[in-house]
Amino acid sequence: MTAPPVDAVRALECALSLCRQELAESRGRAQGLALAEAVFTHAANPLAVLDRHYDFLRVNDAYARCCGKPVEAFAGRNHFEMFPSDARLVFDDVVQNKPASTTFTRALIFPDQPERGVSYWDWTLVPVLDADGEVDALVLSQVDVTEREAGADALRQSEARYRRQAAELELIYRTAPVGLCVLDTQLRYVHINEHLAEFDRLPVEEHLGKTIRETLPDTAARVEPLLRRVLETGEPVLDLEGRGETEPGVWRHWNSQYWPLKSADGRVYGINVVVEEITERRRLEETRQREQAFRSLAENSSDIISRFDRELRRIYVNPAIEAILDRPRETLIGKTHHDLGLPEALAAALDRPLAMVFETAQPLAAEAVVPTPKGERYLEARIVPEFDASGAVETVLAITRDLTERKRAEEALQASERKYRALVENLYEGVWLLDTEADTTFVNARLAELLGYPATEMLGRSVFSFMDPEQVEAMRGNLLRSAAGTRAEYDFEFRCKSGEPIWTRVAATPIVDEGGRYQGTLIALIDITERIRSAEALHRREQEFAALVERSPDIIARVDASLRLRYVNPAIERLTGRPRDWFIGKTPGERELSPEEARLREATLRAVFESGEERIVEQRNPSLNGERIFQTRLVPEFGPAGKVESVLVVERDIDDLKRAQEALEELTLLDPLTGVANRRFLERFVGREWMREARQRLPIAAVMVDIDHFKDYNDHYGHAQGDACLRTVSQTLRGALHRPADILVRYGGEEFIVLLPESDLAAAREIAERLRQAVEALALPHPTSPIGDRVTISLGVAAVQAHEGEFDQLLIAADAALYRAKKKGRNRVEASGAPAADAARPP
Ligand code: GH3
Ligand code: MG
Ligand code: MG
Repeated sequence: MTAPPVDAVRALECALSLCRQELAESRGRAQGLALAEAVFTHAANPLAVLDRHYDFLRVNDAYARCCGKPVEAFAGRNHFEMFPSDARLVFDDVVQNKPASTTFTRALIFPDQPERGVSYWDWTLVPVLDADGEVDALVLSQVDVTEREAGADALRQSEARYRRQAAELELIYRTAPVGLCVLDTQLRYVHINEHLAEFDRLPVEEHLGKTIRETLPDTAARVEPLLRRVLETGEPVLDLEGRGETEPGVWRHWNSQYWPLKSADGRVYGINVVVEEITERRRLEETRQREQAFRSLAENSSDIISRFDRELRRIYVNPAIEAILDRPRETLIGKTHHDLGLPEALAAALDRPLAMVFETAQPLAAEAVVPTPKGERYLEARIVPEFDASGAVETVLAITRDLTERKRAEEALQASERKYRALVENLYEGVWLLDTEADTTFVNARLAELLGYPATEMLGRSVFSFMDPEQVEAMRGNLLRSAAGTRAEYDFEFRCKSGEPIWTRVAATPIVDEGGRYQGTLIALIDITERIRSAEALHRREQEFAALVERSPDIIARVDASLRLRYVNPAIERLTGRPRDWFIGKTPGERELSPEEARLREATLRAVFESGEERIVEQRNPSLNGERIFQTRLVPEFGPAGKVESVLVVERDIDDLKRAQEALEELTLLDPLTGVANRRFLERFVGREWMREARQRLPIAAVMVDIDHFKDYNDHYGHAQGDACLRTVSQTLRGALHRPADILVRYGGEEFIVLLPESDLAAAREIAERLRQAVEALALPHPTSPIGDRVTISLGVAAVQAHEGEFDQLLIAADAALYRAKKKGRNRVEASGAPAADAARPP
């Protein structure tokens, strides 16, 4: 409590001392009173004198003014009746204890002057004692201390405010969600909150008074230069981002701000460091970015992408779903499959895999056929879990692809594949599919059958295991050409399971994918073993034939459609003395032939080319020994179209024969009755012709002919009629012989011999049968024949290689055969089975 202002105290003391003086000495009383009166009345301070019952005795002007009443208003009135207040207790204390003075401060609001507001007053109570030492009166002095009190109050309030703020600051410091610290100019921690200490993983105490370098050596290297810059420039460093691995695998991110602390004169005396952890913010930011990326991907995906929550409600779906559902995607959001009004079973089927992924946290694939406004769609989905921060499945994502078109295409493909497979399986050709390693990936039934394996046994095996080792290189070469993209056809010999070789005609086609890469080879093959064998046989036969032709005494030639000689054998060289090549390419007109002969020959050849019929003609050939007569046979050779492509010409020298016939005529070696040759001719002929046949190693046949039951005929019709019959029969026999070289001889009575040069037994037998039929066909009546009603003949046939037998033997054999024909009932042909004839055959 401060002392009351000096003037008031002085005035009072002065007044009181005057009073005492007056009371004690009663001297100058009136003067003293007047002075006291003046001081009292005019003192600047309000003054009042009260009796011991607190009734006003006197108040001065200042007091009355202060209370807003006239001085007269107080006389005789009680202080506490006028101004009730608890100050009475202080008054009572002064009356009882009589201290020299008591001062106390009171706040006042003057009731009649409320506009003054609160004012503060120091009240000084001075007891005035009577002679007995009892309080007689009280002098009340009031000093306006409003100004002083207002200052003190303001100070108090500001102190309190400061304390409150400090506490608040402390609280903020402690509880702030950011790390805070204050560093001094030596970068020592002056202050640090728990939060920041926690980032550093050191207790608060470990920081205080220490430098950053001492507490966080690693961080110090990075932040010290920045902190020093703040100290030097007085400028803050803001938004400094950093991160650290506070626990293994746990990375945390921070944002730091360094604020300079400045004194009033602008000097930097420290740094306020604010460190905010932004790990979560970063995570959210990254999540947001991921989510955004997902959205932009999903929104533009042609796959249907849906996200489902744990209640299997669709919480997101991209626009792709509108393509198959024909409704805005927003109408699907927040709805389960059941909510969409799908059939119960379908909704359950669609939900099942979603629920499974929630349960197992494993992705899975699912398929479904879903009815849509655009018909039934075949959908395939991949369903993946999405996890929350705790690792639990929060949502699942379904990526659905509409495979309807592909499925249809696949089905169509499968159907066509089935068709092709059936086709391939039933092909006559063997089909063999090889991969790039030449291993078998497919064989059809036909191929398996050709090689004699069960198809399954061939699968996976190398093609090289179905052939002889010598063939492997060739096949390898073929497959290399296939791999290079070349289709090839070739003949190839494989080996069957049985060990038998099989010759095949192979067509190997490379198989390539869309990118043109070689995928393997398709081999189609047919069995040509038979063809190869027959080709070999043909070749052999051709060689044999060529050897025969080359050695033949007959001239053998081939003429093409332009009538030029394409081939001629060496016989022509022997005949003409010219090399055979001279003839090649020449037409008859270009050879040394008379114009008449050449014209005739060309006409004959043309006739054969045009008619396609064989001809036998006589021709004249120039030779070293002059002109000779040839019997020429022209045989048409047909091409595949049935057209005559060439004509084979076989020319036989019949000059000798011709001359013999001429001689025969000269010598009348003919039978006068029938006009055919007689037995003498036969002997002549045998002398020459037999030798020729023998020289050329040709067969010759004889047919012995005898009329059946001719005696009976004579007996019935008479001898003349018999003769007529003999003539008719002999003419018929001659007419049935087509070759000029064949000779009919009347051997005696009703017996004839037919000589057939160059005929073997079988050919002669055929001719004999022809003769028999010709006679039978005459139907000459023979009423007395025991075997029928007409004239018939029996025939015995024999043949011999001329150089190996004798003419007589031939006749004996033919006769023996005739005998057998008679024996067996007549009107028939019997061929020689006699040892002599057999021995005549080549071994
Ligand atoms: P077979 O069937 O056994 O031959 O009985 P065939 O009667 O013909 O037998 P055979 O040889 O015994 O008789 C042949 C007869 O041919 C005898 C003869 O009357 C008759 N004959 C033989 N030469 C001539 C002839 O020049 N003129 C006529 N008219 N008859 C002849
Ligand atoms: Mg007879
Ligand atoms: Mg007879």
